[in-house]
Amino acid sequence: KKQNAAEPEFLQAVEEVLETIRPVVDAHEAEYRKEALLERICEPDRQIKFRVPWVDDNGNVQVNTGYRIEFNNAIGPYKGGLRLHPSVYTGIIKFLGFEQIFKNSLTGLPIGGGKGGSDFDPKGKSDREVMAFCQSFMSELYKYIGADRDVPAGDIGTGAREIGYMFGYYKKLTDSFEGVLTGKGLSYGGSLARTEATGYGLLYLTEEMLKCNGHDIKGKTCLVSGSGNVAIYAIQKAQQLGAKVVTCSDSTGWIYDPEGIDVDLLKEIKEVKRARLTEYAAQRSSAEYHDKAKEGTNQWQIKADIALPCATQNELNLEDAKKLVANGVIAVAEGANMPTTADATIYLQQNKVLFSPGKASNAGGVATSALEMSQNSERLSWTFEEVDSKLKGIMVNIFHNIDDAAKRYGKEGDYVAGANIAGFEKVADAMLAHGVC
Ligand code: NDP
Repeated sequence: KKQNAAEPEFLQAVEEVLETIRPVVDAHEAEYRKEALLERICEPDRQIKFRVPWVDDNGNVQVNTGYRIEFNNAIGPYKGGLRLHPSVYTGIIKFLGFEQIFKNSLTGLPIGGGKGGSDFDPKGKSDREVMAFCQSFMSELYKYIGADRDVPAGDIGTGAREIGYMFGYYKKLTDSFEGVLTGKGLSYGGSLARTEATGYGLLYLTEEMLKCNGHDIKGKTCLVSGSGNVAIYAIQKAQQLGAKVVTCSDSTGWIYDPEGIDVDLLKEIKEVKRARLTEYAAQRSSAEYHDKAKEGTNQWQIKADIALPCATQNELNLEDAKKLVANGVIAVAEGANMPTTADATIYLQQNKVLFSPGKASNAGGVATSALEMSQNSERLSWTFEEVDSKLKGIMVNIFHNIDDAAKRYGKEGDYVAGANIAGFEKVADAMLAHGVC
């Protein structure tokens, strides 16, 4: 549609899905056409956009824009994170919300797709400023969410601190204590293992994908990008499984540490001090720091067996893919949402690199959020081991589902197609059952 032309990320996500589900659409052509199923699935149920005014520490009023896109609730309440980053605009939230429909379907749990956020940048803000923003944001958002309606979570820029402020304000506005957000603190309804879930889940799926293709993750060298929530716990689990992770990054630079990333040091710097990666290099003699802007380089130039992009969309392009292939990479599994550009994905697949798309390999976060919702509903808390073992089961299951879906449609080994087909089939069935609405 003309109005989507200014939303390139959304178009990129839609094109990838529509292209890869073609065999399913061909098999159901008359029915889907009659019901306008594809047109309906590409149009959000509703898009909410609102003003978020707040007062900074100098007493000045700042104004940001807030978004919540409730994309599809055919199989369960809307579910998806809130991104706080200056790059946020409608196209980013729509691409993330669209992807979320199929990802959530792949988890096998009853959750629909949504996404939200704001162009607010929590970086460099005081705790009071972040709280002022979160309260103003929630003073509008609370009208549209609820434990059975729409359950937001964290994403880039929205961690435990932000979720805490938002939950507190929702509770104050509605006078109700309900599981309306996930990623909550453990003392007020959060789930053990939610913090670790996306990174751990990425590694559980990667391990299974490697195993089913005759490789062992043990002893492999890995490249990770990012140094946020997903990256940190991906590094930790990769190391627990016997792999060596030699890189990580943030938006200004990247680290090469041939001895293996010291995950405790990384956690201290990123989770406690909220500092830059220059600090990591300053404290660790084996590490080199590379300034992205000065050098024009990134971590994908390092020789390794496995690459795990865990930072942001379109951070691994065709040039990067060529370097990875030339260096003999055997697998790329996406921890972030759509970190690999469309041409890079095709190049990797054509060169026989095992490739898992984010909607499959990073689904562990939202799956564990759904487990948090279950615990909130039954007013119980499960142990770390219980949640972690359910997470592992879900990720292994996702891999086999996408593998089977690809095989059913003659696309063996194409996990992008497999994930889109398996995710789409369930949502499409539910939408057809509900009639035109
Ligand atoms: P965090 O905010 O914790 O970390 C993001 C990391 O990526 C930081 O290291 C950040 O560096 C870097 N980054 C962010 N934007 C850019 C950019 N434009 N260019 C380069 N680097 C950038 O976010 P998460 O770890 O939670 O999320 C990472 C990705 O994983 C996102 O795509 C998110 O949608 C996806 N995801 C997250 C889930 C979760 O449970 N957290 C679940 C499923 C997907 P800096 O600090 O310098 O900005």
